Amino acid sequence: MEKISEKRGSVVKDMKKEQERELIKLALEARERAYAPYSDFAVGAALLSKSGEIFQGCNVENISYSATNCAERTAIFKAVSEGQLQFEGIAVAGGKKGSAPEDFCMPCAVCLQVMSEFCSPEFEVIVVKSEEEVRRFALRDLLPFVFDSLRKEARP
Ligand SMILES: [Zn+2]
Repeated sequence: MEKISEKRGSVVKDMKKEQERELIKLALEARERAYAPYSDFAVGAALLSKSGEIFQGCNVENISYSATNCAERTAIFKAVSEGQLQFEGIAVAGGKKGSAPEDFCMPCAVCLQVMSEFCSPEFEVIVVKSEEEVRRFALRDLLPFVFDSLRKEARP
């Protein structure tokens, strides 16, 4: 019995690694669709739902600037609008349009607040410089104090 559960454990772990690799790849790919004529800064995100579906997002800029939407929120809003409310992790990659990221692009505080609406403090945020260079964070480390004063019940 112990051997079976060990095996199951390792299979799950391998699947997660595989899913992470996929998320990283898809975040980098999503950058190519960024609409960023004002900043020339292309960001891509890939969000994994608990059901196993992946939603990609890119930044969508607007000439009024404040109407701009970040890649992370694009991915989250797409997923929520498709009926997904529970998530495992998100990968994010950003940098100058037309070239590979030169640095790690951290999610902004607005996106972290949106993540906190749907995700647990353990939600994994993978910040991607390349397929080989990533940094992993728990949401709680990036946003230790969340605005949740109006919360009436537990997260979805
Ligand atoms: Zn943001």
